[in-house]
Amino acid sequence: MRIVITGGAGFIGSHLVEKFLSLDHQVVVIDNLITGKSENLTLHKNLIFIEQNICKYTEVEGKVDWVMHFASPASPIDFKKLPIQILKVGSSGTINALGIAKVKKAKFFLASTSEVYGDPLEHPQKETYVGNVDPISERSVYDEAKRFAEATTMAYHRFHKIDTRIIRIFNTYGPRMRPEDGRVISNFISQALTNKPITVYGDGTQTRSFQYVTDLVEGVVRLMDVDFYDPVNLGNPIEYTILDLAKIIKKLTSSNSEIVFKPLPEADPKRRRPDISRAKQMLKWEPKISLEDGLMKMIEYYKPLLQLQK
Ligand code: UDP
Repeated sequence: MRIVITGGAGFIGSHLVEKFLSLDHQVVVIDNLITGKSENLTLHKNLIFIEQNICKYTEVEGKVDWVMHFASPASPIDFKKLPIQILKVGSSGTINALGIAKVKKAKFFLASTSEVYGDPLEHPQKETYVGNVDPISERSVYDEAKRFAEATTMAYHRFHKIDTRIIRIFNTYGPRMRPEDGRVISNFISQALTNKPITVYGDGTQTRSFQYVTDLVEGVVRLMDVDFYDPVNLGNPIEYTILDLAKIIKKLTSSNSEIVFKPLPEADPKRRRPDISRAKQMLKWEPKISLEDGLMKMIEYYKPLLQLQK
């Protein structure tokens, strides 16, 4: 197949590129490198890289079987630094990516997010839960952009009969996540490995469920083979408090870092855990990598990187 991936130089996108190349597909990456890095891609005869913002009108030469829309800054620190870019890539970026799918008669795959559930009042979150999003909080730039992206995808599916998929990605981690990304696992591992204070926001009782990136990639590949248009949660259902996560990372890195408490960011969701019954039933999928195994892989990946930065 020939697959276009927006955001293919980013953390998750680049793992998908690698997977598709290993399956002998041809891949066209569209990425403006705002948060992605060209080093995340390796030279390959079946890979084309177009350095371009998908919010601009983009033409792709040749046949296309799938357009996978994975472009977006996604870390809470980006919500402050890149709010307009996030709103644009979720709105006009999604429309442009759908436009490529339409003109090429290709299928379309949207990377959405657990953030569409906002600060959820239902726990764990099923795909049928419609969410609790504050439309004017700092997080809303991402939450509302992805909600718009889902609405647009469904409209193109209903009106233009495009064959579409939507996944809602829950917290995901792994190699190629930038050490300066600002998210909890990258922060805690970087801090622990450099013996700096581990910064728990709030009192650390808020929860998250962490999925290793290769588990996510497997879920994506399986959903491409199933005709299903409603959203599918992809995440690991095992829930941890952030304080427990800090303690686990401190132990795994044998770090001397102290755990310190900092103010909780605005609209930080209190609890988050996916209900993955839909993915289990339809895709015969569930995460395989335990948190400790995944964290060890990530720690080994970060060690030389952090050494280089010194
Ligand atoms: N967090 C933290 N310390 C950090 C970074 C994040 O305690 O250095 C907390 C954050 O407040 C949130 C959770 O960890 O409750 C997950 O944050 P992350 O930025 O990874 O993503 P989110 O799930 O909030 O989108």
